[in-house]
Parts: sequence; C-alpha cells; structure tokens
Amino acid sequence: MDKIIFIICDGLSDRPVPELKGKTPLEAAFTPNLDKMAKGGVIGLIHTIDKGIRPGSDVAHLSLFGYNPKIYYTGRGIFEALGIGADVKPNDIALRGNFATIDEDMNIIDRRAQRVDHTENLIEALQKIKIAQVKIFIKKGTGHRAAVVLRGKNLSAHVTDVDPHHTDTKVTKSIPIKKNPKAQHTANIINEFTKKSYEVLRNHPFNIRRKKDGLLPANILLLRGASKMVDIPNFEKKYNLKAACIAGAGLYKGIAKALGMTIIPISGATGKPDSQIENKTKMAKKILKEYDFIFIHIKGADSLAEDGNFLGKKKFIEKIDQAMSQLKNIKNTLIVVTSDHTTSSKLKIHTADPVPVLITGQNIHTDDVTKFSERTAYQGRLGHLRGVDLMPILVDYLGKAPLYGA
Ligand code: ZN
Repeated sequence: MDKIIFIICDGLSDRPVPELKGKTPLEAAFTPNLDKMAKGGVIGLIHTIDKGIRPGSDVAHLSLFGYNPKIYYTGRGIFEALGIGADVKPNDIALRGNFATIDEDMNIIDRRAQRVDHTENLIEALQKIKIAQVKIFIKKGTGHRAAVVLRGKNLSAHVTDVDPHHTDTKVTKSIPIKKNPKAQHTANIINEFTKKSYEVLRNHPFNIRRKKDGLLPANILLLRGASKMVDIPNFEKKYNLKAACIAGAGLYKGIAKALGMTIIPISGATGKPDSQIENKTKMAKKILKEYDFIFIHIKGADSLAEDGNFLGKKKFIEKIDQAMSQLKNIKNTLIVVTSDHTTSSKLKIHTADPVPVLITGQNIHTDDVTKFSERTAYQGRLGHLRGVDLMPILVDYLGKAPLYGA
C-alpha cells in the first residue's frame, strides 16, 4: 500500500439524542458502506487535541495532520485568508472580516448585514483605502465574509478584534493583547481602517440601493482573528506523501494550503449540507494516480448539529455513506474516515467527546467491530489516540515510518 484517502467528516459524532431513542445521529443512520469498511479494518477513538479539550475545527485539523497546534497555531484569520485565495507572505498579518451594518453612533445593528453577498464593488472601494506604512489587500470571501491582509514593517498579530461578536453594542477598538509597540502600531492601523471602511461604504451606491430596497446597508467591515503567516513544515516533505485537498469551505482549503497541499477545484462542493459529496469521492478516485495523500473534507454534519437539526444530520450521514460506495475496491490505498470533533445536536456546540476513526486497506489488521459509531469505536483495536498520533500510525501502515533506535 502506498496511498491514503483521508476523509474528515466535520462534527460527525454526537451525543445520544432522546428523540432518536438515545442513539446518536451516526448510530441511528443507515450506513452499510461505512459499516462494511469498519468490518474490514480497524477502529478506535481520537481525542483530537487531548482528553477533555473542546476543539475548534482549525486546531483539530492541524492535529489530525500531525501538527501540534500548540506549536503551529497562530489564529484562524490566516487559514481563512489562504482558503479564499489571498496572497499571504511571511510577516503579513491576516484578518477575517464581516460586512456588517452599524448606525451613526457605531452601534452594531447586524453583524452580517443580512448575510449580504455580491460585495465585489464594496471590496474594490475598500481596496482604495490608504494608510501610512502599510499595504492593505482585501479579498472577497463567501457571502458577507472577506479577508484582509496587512503588509509592512513592525506588524504584530497580538491585537484584539474590532468585531465585538454580538449586536446591541458599539464597534470595539482594537487594542494590543500585551503592551508592545508593534501591537499598538497594528491596532492603530486596524482602527484607522475600520473608521475609513465606514466612510467609504456608508454612501456607496451599492448601499444606497440596498436602503431603497428596504435592506440593511453593508456599511462597515468588522475585522477579527488577526494572525501571522504560519511557519509550518511542508506536509509532503514531512511524510514524503504528495498531497491534495478536496474541500468546499474556505477554512479547510486554507489549512491544506498552509501545509503545501494542492487544492483540487471541485464542482458542487459548497461547504454546506447541500454539498455534492459524491463528487468528492469520485474526484479522489480520479486523482489517485497523481497523489499519495488525498484529504477530503465534508462539512454538513457539523452545521446541521450546530442548528440542532439531528434528523438532518442523520440524513446527511446517510449521504456521506452513499458517497463511500465510490471508494470500493481501490487497490494499494488506506482509507481513513474520522472527524475533527463531536458536535452535540442538543447543545449546538462542539464537545470534548472523542471521535470515532476507521482505517481500512489491504493486509491491515481487523478487529471485531462491524459498525462505525461512537459506541462501537470503544471496542476497536486502535483504542484511544490523540489527533497527533494518527498520521504516524498511517505512515507505519504504509511501511514508511522511520525506525526508532537501531
Ligand atoms: Zn469542525
């Protein structure tokens, strides 16, 4: 075996749901393909960061790829910026931005300006903002989102957000997290940019039209998540595996890009529950000749659980299962299915419960587990792993792990 298809189903696992007779959506779902894979392989549980730690998706993915987030995580902004195709260089500061609606006293009316979209003209107008000692690059994200990259000397990511993360309050001022001249300089730039973004956007024709149509204007860009370009070892060099990423949502493409994976364009991958998952598994099969490691990201289960929609999550898991039928009878390839964290449909949040993992391929061990679920994963041969343990195990399955000792 020399290849790996590595599938992360975001927020796949859950807690028991009373309406599902105490089963989780994964347990309640009809998953013949995943169960067959579990039967033909090994299964276990992963604490993606560590026991009792509720992981964010970004740090959990880094960990599953074998990168300790305590060393390599610098904040989410950088991955979002990379994911939507922003050009980020070492020492640049990247931030995530939301087009939002504020009133004349800087009170926040809507953090997403009614999920405004088609903001290309607003981005173009913002791109003209000039601030001394720094170059500013702005890139449109999906819907109301954007990324901002600051390039210049003496910049720091140790600054607070302008976005207060809730309404009925004023736009906050960015301040240094720790007293430091670089952080103060960066906070000043962010505050000046925020003020200027309002000046540029408040009477923009796009917003005048929106007001006429009875819509809220997208009259400010609220910035958050300042982070520096990560200095992170290249995935291909680390594992000697040529890697590709098939994903819809920006964050995951950004993480893959930061690790040097090739991003494969894919139609019908929306990063939402309507995503055409089968296109992803078909594409993985298609590019398998060219790549040794193919990361597929599937987002829907997480979003549905965060909306409290456990029935939708169960249905979506059945859709994932159907997409797995594309991966039958693939030779010389390990197929790995896991998740980045549990998302509880009842609590509507990520929880620290470990996630199931299955590994299947030719000539690897099997265990007695015949179903892929949170409950059965406790009986699997892999036992309890941390996220960072997974890649070394996979590399060893390929027979490529370095020998420790003599
Ligand atoms: Zn996630």
